[in-house]
Amino acid sequence: MTNVLALIEITATGDIATSAPALIAAASKLGTPVAVVATRPGEGAALVAQLGTLGAQHVYLAESEHVGRLLAAAQVQALASAARALEPSAVVVSNSVESCEAAARFVVRTGGGLLADVVDVQIAEDGSVIGVHSVFGGAYTVEATLQSSPAVITLRQGALDERAAATTPSVTTVALEVDASNSAKIENVAAAGPGSGRPALRGAATVVSGGRGLGSKENFALVEQLADALGAAVGASRAAVDAGYIPQSAQVGQTGVNVSPQLYVALGISGAIQHRAGMQTAKTIVAINKDEDAPIFDVADFGIVGDVFSVVPQLIEVLETRSN
Ligand code: FAD
Repeated sequence: MTNVLALIEITATGDIATSAPALIAAASKLGTPVAVVATRPGEGAALVAQLGTLGAQHVYLAESEHVGRLLAAAQVQALASAARALEPSAVVVSNSVESCEAAARFVVRTGGGLLADVVDVQIAEDGSVIGVHSVFGGAYTVEATLQSSPAVITLRQGALDERAAATTPSVTTVALEVDASNSAKIENVAAAGPGSGRPALRGAATVVSGGRGLGSKENFALVEQLADALGAAVGASRAAVDAGYIPQSAQVGQTGVNVSPQLYVALGISGAIQHRAGMQTAKTIVAINKDEDAPIFDVADFGIVGDVFSVVPQLIEVLETRSN
């Protein structure tokens, strides 16, 4: 089996990001999964056992003082170094802003191609890598391949449920040469938002989103209350963002964040195609809307025709009763 690199993201607190299990699982579907970690010298060893639990058969620790100080440069260099050493057939990264940047720059270096925002990966009979995309608001599933190698793939967070079997990985540690002269420098990292304690929207297992139907910024608190009762991230339609109910970072859809949670709850959202483009791959969709003809009901697994201000408080009450 050929090696397949999975670029592991490390959070600002030094933890393995939640995107890692699906990345390693995707890599294991395509070949031998190799976790590539750009890390500051001496800090990677503590992550190896956990990466083995996630199924990485090999861990490639690429060390540089520049990790966390330069934007994506060390990650690109880590991928280039691992690709030279291990000759992978594919490289899988998260579809996050940071890893997309690293993937694109890596692809420019290799002169290859990129399959972006993939929701699944497969191997064709001839051994070529297939990326599965959900397009046109989730209305179509298309498969794409590349003529170049390695195939570089960005994987939508939450899209892949499979997990690789745990193993004890072998480890390679290399010192990276990173050219800092023409790289964007990170001067400060601050958590976005007031630190609500809610999960981040991208990659959250449960998302509760609100739309224009909430009517005002004050009323949008109802969305946050249901999200908190479910331990969910908060999302929104563009209309809710444009109306100033919530910052743009919460926007789900074509021009916002793409999410694939286990559960997506849409409150007062009509279900325009641009919104569905960002949430239609959710495993279970629940919609509450007072218009029984709202298009969101076309994609909902469970629909409640009703007023959010009547239905949602009852829902929260039931959830709170159950948790007590
Ligand atoms: P509306 O369409 O106004 O729907 C509000 C819904 O709330 C209605 O269905 C109504 O019946 C219901 N409602 C009202 N009151 C209540 C109540 N009390 N209880 C229950 N239900 C109630 N949109 C996105 O979301 N994300 C994107 O990324 C995005 N990108 C776009 C990109 C482009 C290029 C364009 C042109 C548009 C984009 N849009 C996007 C906008 C999109 O077309 C819609 O306008 C938007 O999604 C509508 O948001 P909404 O459903 O909240 O509002």
